[in-house]
Amino acid sequence: MAKIHELSENLTNQIAAGEVIERPASVVKELVENSIDAGASRIRVDFVDAGLKEIVVQDNGSGIARDQIDLAFTRHATSKINNEHDLFNVSTLGFRGEALASISAVAHVEIVTSSGDEIGTRAEFSGGVKKSQEDSAAQKGSKITVRDLFFNTPARLKYLRSPRTETMKIVDIINRLALGYPQIAITLSNKGKILLRTPGNGKLDQTVANVYGRHIAEKMVAISQKDADFEISGLISKPELTRSTRNFISILLNGRYIHNFKLNTAIMEGYGSKLAVKHYPIAVINIKVDPLLVDVNVHPTKQEVRLSKEKELSRLITSAISDSLIARTEEISGFENL
Ligand code: ADP
Ligand code: MG
Repeated sequence: MAKIHELSENLTNQIAAGEVIERPASVVKELVENSIDAGASRIRVDFVDAGLKEIVVQDNGSGIARDQIDLAFTRHATSKINNEHDLFNVSTLGFRGEALASISAVAHVEIVTSSGDEIGTRAEFSGGVKKSQEDSAAQKGSKITVRDLFFNTPARLKYLRSPRTETMKIVDIINRLALGYPQIAITLSNKGKILLRTPGNGKLDQTVANVYGRHIAEKMVAISQKDADFEISGLISKPELTRSTRNFISILLNGRYIHNFKLNTAIMEGYGSKLAVKHYPIAVINIKVDPLLVDVNVHPTKQEVRLSKEKELSRLITSAISDSLIARTEEISGFENL
């Protein structure tokens, strides 16, 4: 056996990048989540060649001060949590301090940022190494450009799907984030060609219209219900409007898009026998919960979370859905009786 030795920082960064940055859509997700955490009200995303050649994310958020840039690109450096208590009380999308370090380990990254109260900064990182930093005039906010993703980890490239599939994954994550944040104006474009633009006026039905089309938004009904622990709101499709996959169901827990099979099932149960077999609704379900009831630190991408009181939440979701569908049936039959 060879002697045991510690891996270099560069190598550990590349290994960790494998967990967080699987594909171009992971870069888009991490950067946009950072923009959301930075309090942006406007976020623009553009990509070229399914995100492999270039991904640009620009926001009007808090920006990063000049003397904080190096830390922003250091693994496990974050402005979002301080202590153990915070770790179990996370109110931001990020907190692990891994994204920028990971992305810059496997791509060329340029950042132009300004916190508004000093001249802005432009810096470049590549393959985990800082290449430059200089003053640069910039408006408050950040613009991050990621070029040639996986240029130094060719094995990663082999695992990617077709450009079309990778593009769809980018569109999918932006759609979900847009649905979770109707108060943020989000624009997505492919080499300048607009794919999505949301108004950012806080109206979920308008955002649904932008994401899925107006004809679909018109066939959605509102849900709203709360108990001592959870508050549920959102829009669900009427039973006659369905899709053949579950992909049109978005569950957002405190603004975080999550995968959760049990909550998905709870949604289906809310429809009872109103849905035909293998037909799935379109739904945006926003759940607000005390962060203490959620452990988001179970998976690097944080899309899987551990939930206390999952059964209670499932029941509440089911009843929120069945109640609003019943209310709607009563409304319709009420009209018939007129
Ligand atoms: P995390 O989001 O888990 O803290 P990241 O690596 O994604 O880790 O980002 C590191 C830090 O850089 C963040 O904590 C934040 O302070 C800063 N940062 C990253 N992106 C932005 C942005 N778009 N605007 C303002 N600050 C940012
Ligand atoms: Mg982050």
